[in-house]
Amino acid sequence: MYNIIGQALFISMLASFILSGMALLVSRWSLTRSVYLAGFFADVLDFFYLPLRQIFLKFSDTRVLDKWMASLKNRAHKSAFAKTKKRIVLAPHCMRSLDCPAHSTQTGIQCKSCGKCVFTQLKKDAEKYGYKVFILTGSSYVKNILKMEASDGVLLIACDYEINKVMRALKGKKVTTYGIPMENDGCFGTVVDYQKVLEVFEDFKSFPSL
Ligand code: SF4
Repeated sequence: MYNIIGQALFISMLASFILSGMALLVSRWSLTRSVYLAGFFADVLDFFYLPLRQIFLKFSDTRVLDKWMASLKNRAHKSAFAKTKKRIVLAPHCMRSLDCPAHSTQTGIQCKSCGKCVFTQLKKDAEKYGYKVFILTGSSYVKNILKMEASDGVLLIACDYEINKVMRALKGKKVTTYGIPMENDGCFGTVVDYQKVLEVFEDFKSFPSL
């Protein structure tokens, strides 16, 4: 009896190891090319996220894991995101100027388009492509915004860790997420490659929401 239980445990551990290893490999490939079964492997990585994170913490950098996972999920979500009709952009407040005159509300920072940072242009371009922009001081704002703003497509501008975290939090909800990773993290003086933002707006420009 114990022998059978031992064998079953060994087989399931071996299967988990092989499956998560394959999923990691596919997520790494997703950075540079299209991959098959992106959604399935993204689910595998979500399932094993905590143990994998510990392994990356010990032997590599957890940011690498988040980067691979965010990339894989972008591949998995791309066609569904293209079909969304009411889209919003969620971006972090650490991208704004240190002299920002705007104040915070339940739905984030109320940008005054003062011209001191990227958000003046981002709001303008986002509106042109049919997105509404929200500037968040924390990922806990996401639920507030989605309660107040009916939307089916959420474009996340954030570090890989936050993109992956919000994608995991919104999994199974009636929204499709897509992410644009910033150039740096650290919640201070963060920067996004604006060309990448414009390219994403262009890629998904059909089905405008407004
Ligand atoms: S453009 Fe908006 S977010 Fe940027 S500093 Fe001015 S008010 Fe703040």
